[in-house]
Amino acid sequence: MHNKVVAMTKTTPSPSDAVGIATDISERVARLHADAVDCDARFPIETISALRSERMLSLLVPQEFGGSGCRITVVAAAVEALGRNCASSSMVYAMHHIQIAALARHGRSAWCHDYLRAVAADELLLASATTEKGVGGDVRTSICAVETIDDEFSLVKDSPVVSYGVHADAILATARRTVESPASDQVLVVLPKATTTLEHQSPWKALGFRGTCSDGYIVQGTGTVQQILSDSYADISARTMLPTSHVLWASVWLGIATTAVDTARAFVRAAARKSPGALPPSALHLANLVTQLEEFRAMVAARIAEYETAWDDDNLASSMGFALRMNALKVSSSTMVVDIVTAALRICGIAGYLEDTPFSLGRLLRDSHGAALMVSNDRLIAASAQMLLVHKESR
Ligand SMILES: Cc1cc2nc3c(=O)[nH]c(=O)nc-3n(C[C@H](O)[C@H](O)[C@H](O)COP(=O)(O)OP(=O)(O)OC[C@H]3O[C@@H](n4cnc5c(N)ncnc54)[C@H](O)[C@@H]3O)c2cc1C
Repeated sequence: MHNKVVAMTKTTPSPSDAVGIATDISERVARLHADAVDCDARFPIETISALRSERMLSLLVPQEFGGSGCRITVVAAAVEALGRNCASSSMVYAMHHIQIAALARHGRSAWCHDYLRAVAADELLLASATTEKGVGGDVRTSICAVETIDDEFSLVKDSPVVSYGVHADAILATARRTVESPASDQVLVVLPKATTTLEHQSPWKALGFRGTCSDGYIVQGTGTVQQILSDSYADISARTMLPTSHVLWASVWLGIATTAVDTARAFVRAAARKSPGALPPSALHLANLVTQLEEFRAMVAARIAEYETAWDDDNLASSMGFALRMNALKVSSSTMVVDIVTAALRICGIAGYLEDTPFSLGRLLRDSHGAALMVSNDRLIAASAQMLLVHKESR
């Protein structure tokens, strides 16, 4: 309640202020609580509350609905800033914005517009239920279906991984369009907390990203058919959810990788101070690592810039070349983050391996291994392989 009062008295951050606010919250709040969030596998409430207080949850909400109307570049930079200190906070923030992007671009009913206004007014937090028991990680297939009577719908979904489900104000869930629809004819439905129940099925006892609290639930929601986004999920996924996910996830991982490199740099500098005049052996490895990080950063920046163009260009957004490059971003960046943190660990040696030194890298390494699984890289590579059979251009 307190947060919502603060939110209503603050103005929405301008695009030029937003990254500075995210950096400040990352340094002041996320860094302080990151180890406890990881250790206790608890929701990063301090960081998300601080973001909410600064009205940072409505960055992507268009100004006509009361949000900041920021571009994806700004959101990605804010996500990266958070990822430098707390990957769980950053991932929650990224996942929230993926849902906002879908709602803002594909929710055209009066209900969806009102809900966007509520998101901006009350700084609501949105979560996602795409994964479903029985279809593995194939997000383009649903077993559950929307059941409609007149203007009302109901939906029951067995969702084994719903990040921060109990902390969210609404969950966006995929489902078959009707009970008669094939598994691939999906829609995306907004399920606000007030008309949704979450029956707990499984706890989130994970290697990393522990603060995302991605427990499993039977999600059961009801409402008006206006809560079903206007476009098909195939379209929403291709034009918005997949590229937004891949650029924002890559930004989380870039934040992790940057901190790993900073940690290795601090370690090498400390070693150099101990033997003035002699280059520490690890200095060469550090130079290689900095090169790798720069390549990573350049790749993410290039894809964000392309998505900026595609945001307003439906032809580019629905092209095969764009989809291939967005898949490549996810596969490459999820691999690079593990390689970079592992190389930083080798530079720091036992000081990186131990959990209680200024050079500890355990949490970063565990978090980085979640990257390849968040929609399996194998699935993305298989999808790209299919596209390449018919895609003729080299770009
Ligand atoms: C930190 C984190 C947070 C998450 N949050 C959410 C959330 O909020 N909401 C949500 O809905 N989901 C969430 N997920 C789930 C996630 O997005 C994936 O759906 C899930 O991790 C996939 O599970 P899986 O590995 O069993 O899937 P699968 O994709 O089924 O993979 C299982 C195995 O099959 C192999 N495989 C599958 N398909 C192919 C193929 N075509 N070719 C070759 N091999 C293949 C894979 O390589 C893998 O070895 C989250 C996951 C993580 C790690």
